[in-house]
Amino acid sequence: MARSAKKNDPMNILLLDIDGAIPEALLPTVETLAGNARLRICRHPDALAARLSAPLPDVLLLAGDDAGRLRDTFAGLRARHALPPAIAITADPDVSAVLALLRSGIRDCVVRDSAGHWPAALAESLAALEAAPHAPPAPRASTQTEQIIDGCSVAIFAIDREHRVTHWNRACAQLTGIAAHAVLGTREQWRAFYPQARPCLADLLLDGARREEMAALYGDKSLHIAGEQADTCEAEDFFPALGEKGRWLYFTAAILRDADGGIVGAVETLQDVSERELARRALHASEGLLRQIIQCSSVATFVIDECHEITHWNQACEILLGQSAETAIGCRTLAREIYREERPVLADLVLDGAAETEIARYYDGRYRRSPVADGLFEVEDYFPHLPGGPRWLHFAAAPLHDGQGRTIGAIETLIDISERKRAEALILESEQRLAQIVDGSPVATFVIDRQHRVTHWNRACSVLTGLPATAMLGTREQWRAFYASERPCMADLVLDGADESALDRYYATKHYHRSPVVEGGYEAQDFFPNFGSSGRWLYFTAAPLRDARGGIIGAIETLQDITEQKRAEQGLRESEERYRIQSITDGMTGLYNTRHFTQRLQEEMARCERYGHPLSLMVLDVDDFKRFNDSWGHVQGDEVLISLAECIRACLRCSDQAFRYGGEEFVVLLPETGLDEAEAAARRVCALFAARAQRPQAGLALHCTTSIGVTRCAPGESPRAFVARADSGTYEAKRLGKNRVVRVEPPPAT
Ligand code: GH3
Ligand code: MG
Ligand code: MG
Repeated sequence: MARSAKKNDPMNILLLDIDGAIPEALLPTVETLAGNARLRICRHPDALAARLSAPLPDVLLLAGDDAGRLRDTFAGLRARHALPPAIAITADPDVSAVLALLRSGIRDCVVRDSAGHWPAALAESLAALEAAPHAPPAPRASTQTEQIIDGCSVAIFAIDREHRVTHWNRACAQLTGIAAHAVLGTREQWRAFYPQARPCLADLLLDGARREEMAALYGDKSLHIAGEQADTCEAEDFFPALGEKGRWLYFTAAILRDADGGIVGAVETLQDVSERELARRALHASEGLLRQIIQCSSVATFVIDECHEITHWNQACEILLGQSAETAIGCRTLAREIYREERPVLADLVLDGAAETEIARYYDGRYRRSPVADGLFEVEDYFPHLPGGPRWLHFAAAPLHDGQGRTIGAIETLIDISERKRAEALILESEQRLAQIVDGSPVATFVIDRQHRVTHWNRACSVLTGLPATAMLGTREQWRAFYASERPCMADLVLDGADESALDRYYATKHYHRSPVVEGGYEAQDFFPNFGSSGRWLYFTAAPLRDARGGIIGAIETLQDITEQKRAEQGLRESEERYRIQSITDGMTGLYNTRHFTQRLQEEMARCERYGHPLSLMVLDVDDFKRFNDSWGHVQGDEVLISLAECIRACLRCSDQAFRYGGEEFVVLLPETGLDEAEAAARRVCALFAARAQRPQAGLALHCTTSIGVTRCAPGESPRAFVARADSGTYEAKRLGKNRVVRVEPPPAT
């Protein structure tokens, strides 16, 4: 064979499976490793002869799980045929068996470990063979054992009876990082594995250490000894000093004997199983963690495997669905218990990767795709047949994937949402009721939520404001209905818990007050000039809306148009005033009447008394009026009285008050006026009236006159005495010839 001459040709590999059953997993691996190599497989040694004829394969792979049988088969083939270089693949980790294989002329031996390192080892071995096809066949002489061991892909070292290292192969040097020359001949094999001197497994075996001694060093669990005093043993341990983060090693030791069976030393093989061990530990940890998470979760959770069998069923699930984990785990008929019919549950559908239409078939209108994770579905459904009575459940299911992304099960969580559903139903009901009440109310009403958004705007409100509900709902523009620019309505102020100082800013103090019925509510009335065509008066109330815990969640405002009522009130007030004025006014002259004089006189005298201010009084009587009446008639006489009233008014200050005392007599009250001033005023009236022309007939001008008595109020005197004294002045004026003023001093104080 001349591989070097046809280096680019595909490698020609013949695989013989000694045991007659190559594990399925092995085949694709070997094929992959072969790359573009030609791989032929032979299941029986007897069928091999034909395959070994020309062209001879480049390499013979011998696979078999029994190393002894492999060696025998190889020896048999060698005796009968010319063989290409051979590589053994075996699951047998027994060191002696491997050594025996190598001694028998096999070029390399790959131990098919469960950790899955062997494909790489096989690839290396094939590559080495391809690179050096003419390397001498594995030496058969026992003196060349070093070479055999050295070529082996398994890390091996051997010690002699004195525990001195005799072999330390390349794989061992690579694994431990210690070159052969550094340890050969020493007893320091421990250095490769431990920080201080201690026996390795091979040392212990060589010394015939008892099981307990070995267990003390390696732990009972990881140590396997065939029998009490065996020639071989194996163990697994973690070596923190190896590699960067320490390595897990699987190591075997075997006693080496000479032809006579005498002990000559011991051999130890070492396989790095870190990857497998770490993966196993991580899996174990995550499985344990998952189990704990599920078990401790207060959310009812169950898991099904790829066969739809329940594998996890936590305590919350037991309580909610009324089935113990014991009966549930391993069960596939969950739906029958829950739905009382044969059908899948959500986890089953998710596990089967059911299309959405399929999910909709079972949960139409009640499911949704979760935004949280891919393949996660959520459902809210009512279950009338649960052991604890009918319930609303929210449940979510998602597929579970392994590291390669294959679906290996599904997880489902269930939450009892009956209380929430009940509360929601109550809220809906009360909201509908509120909406009905508000909308049906003849009183204009609107409601705002916590964010000041309009949630209700009833028909009466639309009619009153002229703005339809559609324009207002959902907006914060309630102010638009009442004001020209943005400002809070009373509902907004109430919602914000505004106090009186805040309300004062927006409403005239006299126009609002606290609600006598609702805490935190206010009532107010105001004129809205921009409202309607000519402004409207509105009476409005606002009250907070509270939730069950008393928290404010919104506010309601009612509005009543009280414009008509306001106008009626105004009219009433005006007519009342008119009536009052009428009742104290003399209809003919427009001066106050006698009744009012009596009242005013008392008030002014009391005031004068209280403050010691002066108060004066005139009494006027038309002179010879009877004669005038008799000459010109009463109607013309009335004109004279009206004319006198005008003269009185013209000569008085605004604080003075004139009254028609009866018939053709008048009185004038002059507060804050001393007698001198009062006399002067009386003279002005007297002169003005006398100068005024009376025209009882066209073309005729007559002059009437008046006699006036004037006096000052004396402290402590009665109204009657005060008036009588003024009257006496009038009388005196008549007596003295009329058309004059007579001043009467009050009697001196006693
Ligand atoms: P004297 O100068 O002394 O006061 O003479 P006199 O005529 O005014 O005397 P007397 O007081 O007795 O007469 C009052 C008259 O005034 C009698 C009555 O006809 C007249 N009189 C009273 N009230 C009215 C009234 O309201 N209108 C008219 N036209 N005359 C009235
Ligand atoms: Mg008179
Ligand atoms: Mg008179």
